[in-house]
Amino acid sequence: MHSATEIIASKRDGHELSESQLAWFIHELLDGRVADYQATALLMAISIRGMTPPETASLTRVMLASGTRLDWLGHSRRIVDKHSTGGIGDKVSLILAPLLATFDLAVPMISGRGLGPTGGTLDKLESIPGFRCDLALGEITAAVDEVGCVITGATPEIAPADQVLYALRDVTATVASIPLITASILSKKLAASLECLLLDVKFGSGAFMPTLPAARELADSLVRVGNLMGTQTRAILTNMNQPLGRMIGNALEVQESLDVLQGQGPADLVELVVAQAIDLLIMAGIETSVERAGAQVRSRLASGAAYEKFAAMIGKQGGQLNAFQATDSQTVQAAVVATEPGFVSRIACSELGYAVIDLGGGRKRADDQIDPFVGIEFLARVGVRVEPDQELAIVTARNDRSLQQAMARIDSAITRTLAPCEPLQLIAGRIDDRSTWHAAQTPDPSLPRDEV
Ligand code: URA
Repeated sequence: MHSATEIIASKRDGHELSESQLAWFIHELLDGRVADYQATALLMAISIRGMTPPETASLTRVMLASGTRLDWLGHSRRIVDKHSTGGIGDKVSLILAPLLATFDLAVPMISGRGLGPTGGTLDKLESIPGFRCDLALGEITAAVDEVGCVITGATPEIAPADQVLYALRDVTATVASIPLITASILSKKLAASLECLLLDVKFGSGAFMPTLPAARELADSLVRVGNLMGTQTRAILTNMNQPLGRMIGNALEVQESLDVLQGQGPADLVELVVAQAIDLLIMAGIETSVERAGAQVRSRLASGAAYEKFAAMIGKQGGQLNAFQATDSQTVQAAVVATEPGFVSRIACSELGYAVIDLGGGRKRADDQIDPFVGIEFLARVGVRVEPDQELAIVTARNDRSLQQAMARIDSAITRTLAPCEPLQLIAGRIDDRSTWHAAQTPDPSLPRDEV
């Protein structure tokens, strides 16, 4: 028999907690016999003392076991997914899920809403009229069975312990703890009973982790614990010191995703979609060669096969893709332009996310309504020389006041210098399922020769 104070004291003094202690604590918390103040004391002790990878795996298992897992009995396809720690303009999930489903993989993608300055996959997809992302567990498996992929929100049955713990962490300065983030992310993702999981861990001015070393620490923890839990898990580390693609804002990001799904779209977004698809095809054993996988992935984007799969997924989830529009006639638009020549040397990327929230494209309070049609088409890139009057960003707003505010915020988020500076490399490296770090080669070998 355990006691809450004994467990809190043990972690306070830096000891490793057993799975039995963690299971007892979480069980009693959910049943109301451990108080919130005791749970927050334990969360703070974990934040300060940390946890070993096996201990974090125990916490993840306990949180996972607090809810239901998807059951794939009778399904023959391999179950794969990716998770991004969130970035400005990151719409890869919208493209990757249907793209992978064209390879006969099953992709049950349980996604989230906007967090801090980063937009949420579900909020983006809800700009398609009628789209439902509140599927029940049975609807998720049925949709995956029929279409091959689904993108939906966590149901109340998925990792309820995380819902309780996350609410407490949010108000007690205990969100930024690597073992707690690891257990939170993986307890929800692994509820889909995945065989392969690719994590896109972002670093930089638009990411949760400000630097590559910090992102590597989180990625390493996620990879170790994912593999300890029996899911083949790898990570890709990507640079979020500038937005991914050009569009930031819900309907604008859906439009840009549709472009990529039809063989178009900006090069950096295509590069990351292709890289993640290659990684998962190789992890799932569908392909063994990076070059062949890359060629296959590009051909499914160019042929419209991935678009067809996306349309089928949207239709299955009640969305009317024919009724989708990226803009509406009640908005106002203006461009942020350069006033002097110079090189873009730095972009305060999270400022762009907050500018979209101020425009109404994200939430300041949990019950705020999102305006799908406001946002930014961001044209500046680090390392690029700009001339006077060159457009750096085009802002879409509901009224002139919010337009002017957003333009000023975007302008001051872009640092320009007279001296030339290097462009950014999008993919910094990967962590394989044995937790070995591989720095990315420059140029990326998966790119066709004419793009290198
Ligand atoms: N996202 C999550 O799901 N959990 C965390 O703790 C942090 C980010």
